Amino acid sequence: MNQKNHDSTADWHKLVGFQSPLLKLQSLYTSGRLPQVLLFVGREGIGKRLFVRALTSLFYCEDGTACGQCGPCLDLKRGEHQELLWLTTEKTFKIEHAQQLQDHLAVQSAAIQVKGQWRRQPRVVVMPDIDRLNHQAANRMLKTLEEPNDNTFIIFTTSRPKQLLDTVRSRVIQWYLIPPPVAESIALIRGQINCDLSDSELERLLSTSGMAPGKVIERIQSQQFDDEQVIERLMKDLIFSRGTQTAMDAAKQLTKDYQVSVNDLAKRIELLLNQYYRWSFQGSKPDDAYFKQSQPSLDPVVLRRWRETLRTIRSFSGTGVPLNPQMLAETFALTR
Ligand SMILES: [Zn+2]
Repeated sequence: MNQKNHDSTADWHKLVGFQSPLLKLQSLYTSGRLPQVLLFVGREGIGKRLFVRALTSLFYCEDGTACGQCGPCLDLKRGEHQELLWLTTEKTFKIEHAQQLQDHLAVQSAAIQVKGQWRRQPRVVVMPDIDRLNHQAANRMLKTLEEPNDNTFIIFTTSRPKQLLDTVRSRVIQWYLIPPPVAESIALIRGQINCDLSDSELERLLSTSGMAPGKVIERIQSQQFDDEQVIERLMKDLIFSRGTQTAMDAAKQLTKDYQVSVNDLAKRIELLLNQYYRWSFQGSKPDDAYFKQSQPSLDPVVLRRWRETLRTIRSFSGTGVPLNPQMLAETFALTR
């Protein structure tokens, strides 16, 4: 059991795309109208925890701006603020967690002096992934969720709202966080990790990761990512190379060395073609060598023909008809 947040050193100043909901919540808080039990719903990896960290720092920051520099903000960054409890779990929130929540909220908060006046700080419990709450824990928490003590806040997050217990769902105010725009997500990724991928490559990674920058970072940092890059290049060779031999070699490598199934390959190619299609229409000039090289011949007629080919191939897979990437390569070579 870990009471501190895993990413307690995460800097919410790198947070992008959520300024407007944050401002809205800040104004609700300062006017005393912020709901006491909140659930933030949003896809996995879009930065819900960072968002909640920014929100809670608004509660405690000495000048109310989540400055990231003052004593309370630094305590929050270290995950050591005494009024705030992060409850996390790898598997299930159990009755012990519910007990911890109640114990924390039962304690009177310390008073601090703000502009010459003494006032009590809020007591707060954050529980990310609240869909992991089991029935017993939920039952234990019901009364607290229904009638929270004055000056306390309970903040939940989830990326699986359908798995939420009804008893919990009916007692929270839900707030939907939508993924940040592509340009901001790319800036976020570049701010968090060192990567030499082009903007267009990052954009496609986003589109295959539910538009979630956190997911993309995870993928780039994973062991398989170098393989992914090679597969990507081979796939483009297979589709776009002028020589049939290059395409066949690429196909062979994909099946033999990288064990890519034809179905998976068809899916990847479809995503790539969709992106190229969008780029052609928008007249954008991405830094993608294959796109530049293939653009003159990549007219809508060819693209449509390829899409039909892909659809046929995908409809065959699973029917027992033997398909392989070599066939795919030949098909692309023939219809080019
Ligand atoms: Zn501060």
